[in-house]
Amino acid sequence: MNLIFVGPPGSGKGTQAKIIARILDLPHISTGDLVRETTGDLKREIDLYINTGHLVPDELMLKILQKRLSHEDVSGGFIFDGFPRNMAQVDSLDPIVKIDKVVHIAIPDKEAFNRISGRRNCPKCGRIYNIYTSPKPLQEGICDYDESILYERGDQREEVIEKRLNVYHKDTEPILKKYPHVDIDGSKDIDDVTQDILKYISK
Ligand code: AMP
Repeated sequence: MNLIFVGPPGSGKGTQAKIIARILDLPHISTGDLVRETTGDLKREIDLYINTGHLVPDELMLKILQKRLSHEDVSGGFIFDGFPRNMAQVDSLDPIVKIDKVVHIAIPDKEAFNRISGRRNCPKCGRIYNIYTSPKPLQEGICDYDESILYERGDQREEVIEKRLNVYHKDTEPILKKYPHVDIDGSKDIDDVTQDILKYISK
């Protein structure tokens, strides 16, 4: 089964894509993770786009994605988290793969903004905390598991969050017109959102 998860930054689409991928035993392909993991000269260029809230140019994004799609594990299906992100990417995907279902996780901008601006990351184990919601670190600014000092990612700054939300509404939301999809209420508890998604997928 080939699935696409769409949602504004902060909607929890990454968290849900990961959970559903584990349940369905499908590879979770997050284009955000793929671009963040880039190394070498390309990294500097990519970080510039990410940290200003812009999309990575389509041609470059496709090259990175195609490399990932050449791995054997995608032959039985996958979950795309964060791709496609605009109509041009939809058009490039069309001839390559058939998409079975599209999950749209929706939340109001204000909530998305509050969720992202509170995020703090552990540089060592990658755990993500939230200083306003949960999980809060037991000790302020310190990872519960390895005691590393938590940091705020460049694209979690307030002006960048606004830009990312604008880009989402302008470039990404229109792709929903192209795909039959279900709208999932991302404001609910994580477990309830997961159940709503599973209900739709198993139909
Ligand atoms: P995400 O983790 O999905 O929020 O993605 C983080 C950042 O990676 C985005 O703000 C973009 O700069 C970049 N990115 C992720 N997916 C794409 C994509 N499909 N096309 C272009 N840029 C992307």
